[in-house]
Amino acid sequence: MTGQGFQKAAVSAVDDIERYYTNLTSRQVLPSVSPGYLQKLLPSEPPVHGEEWQDIEKDIERTIMPGITHWQSPKFMAFFPASSTYPAILGEMWSAALTAPAFNWICSPAVTELETIVLDWLANMLGLPAAFLSKGEGGGVIQGSASEAIVTVMVAARERFVRRQLEREGVNDPEEIEDRSCELRAKLVALGSDHAHSSTKKAANIAGSRYRGISTDLSTEFALTGKQLRSKIEELHARGLHPYYLTVTIGTTNTCAVDDFHSIAEVAKDYPDIWIHCDAAYAGAALILPEYQHLAKEMSFVDSFDMNMHKWLLTNFDASCLFVRKRRDLTDALSVTPAYLKNSFTESGLVTDYRDWQVPLGRRFRSLKIWFVIRTWGVAGLQEHIRHHIRLGDLFAELVRSRGDIFSIMVPARFALTVLTVHPRRRPTPQLNGVTEGGVPRPYEDQHVPVEPHAHDQQLQEANEITKEVYTLIDQRKELFLTASVIG
Ligand code: PLP
Repeated sequence: MTGQGFQKAAVSAVDDIERYYTNLTSRQVLPSVSPGYLQKLLPSEPPVHGEEWQDIEKDIERTIMPGITHWQSPKFMAFFPASSTYPAILGEMWSAALTAPAFNWICSPAVTELETIVLDWLANMLGLPAAFLSKGEGGGVIQGSASEAIVTVMVAARERFVRRQLEREGVNDPEEIEDRSCELRAKLVALGSDHAHSSTKKAANIAGSRYRGISTDLSTEFALTGKQLRSKIEELHARGLHPYYLTVTIGTTNTCAVDDFHSIAEVAKDYPDIWIHCDAAYAGAALILPEYQHLAKEMSFVDSFDMNMHKWLLTNFDASCLFVRKRRDLTDALSVTPAYLKNSFTESGLVTDYRDWQVPLGRRFRSLKIWFVIRTWGVAGLQEHIRHHIRLGDLFAELVRSRGDIFSIMVPARFALTVLTVHPRRRPTPQLNGVTEGGVPRPYEDQHVPVEPHAHDQQLQEANEITKEVYTLIDQRKELFLTASVIG
């Protein structure tokens, strides 16, 4: 493709993308394709000779769109939001155009320096303690996802724990260091509440340590407390194990619970070797509002904090913003410098090489889209965006409460998330494939809906019924755009 060809193709793609967004509400949110649908539409072998762009372009609508779930549709109500905006898309375009895997500062100084600047802006916008700013010992780095951020800090936590212990034991001999490090690593335990995102358990698998989820319950609205934490730590110590890492959460995935930072901070004082990471993947965006910044102030006891701009702050995937209190903790664990990566700027100590703050070596120019978004909306515009969603969330919760005959709210609505349960309706014992269900009431179900022969179809039908009820509520206020988690 020539430059001229690109110009024509890009204009056409931009037209199509704009049309896609303009007409998005007319598309059905969920695809109705069956598994393997795409194999039937595409040839089994790649083309031997290059094809014309017009032919490739046509296949987006013909082959790809039928298999797309339209996350950007206002009718999409699953999971947490996944932002997409025009300025962020432009940031993605420029990032692709400049493709510069800037692992070291010298690989493209602007890539590194813009990232440092926008993450300092963001830390200030979120009201995080000054320790997380780059002018001190801390700083921010963009990761691909909140899960990647957790793996990264967990490895740093593991190595910090081992290093400190070896120092205390006065181990100096290189072989002895290796043997003792292995012994210590075998006894490490990563912690989270049972409502912490599954990425903490996954990270523990990757970091090669045990994982324990600390039980929480409805009495604290599923928030982890210092008391529960202390009891788990003591139990593990009594077994000769070493808790070394803890995820605390602002906005858990299931119910948007916020852990009890005040009591956890008290316990943390007694266990300074445990790295505490705050996962605020979704709800962290709310910290740009002064009325939520009391949560940011509580972050004075955590070692690291992460939030996804790509969830709720108008930035396209991926833009997970990780802040650490001491960047040395990351670089001590992750810096490996073969000869070909050495350069005088690195050696001068005056520059940041983000390769030492992350798992991969290469990296994308992700700060561009964040920069475009912050400049386009301004802090006030972003605050208004989040406030608007929270207001809509409150309105939705109010509507749900007004239908107490069908729904109940499990825990108070938080941020823009309402968690609701659907009352089971007692009805005559249903028949499933001729088998009696033993009188167990099924979730909400309309009397007129015939029982489907397959359990899967039946679940789908029940989900549809619940969705219909939720839509009935939303239809009362057409502008309602929200994230709802429906637990059936
Ligand atoms: N943490 C929390 C609280 C989440 O809700 C999620 C996903 O929804 C994640 C982590 C994982 O996010 P990511 O896809 O960025 O790894």
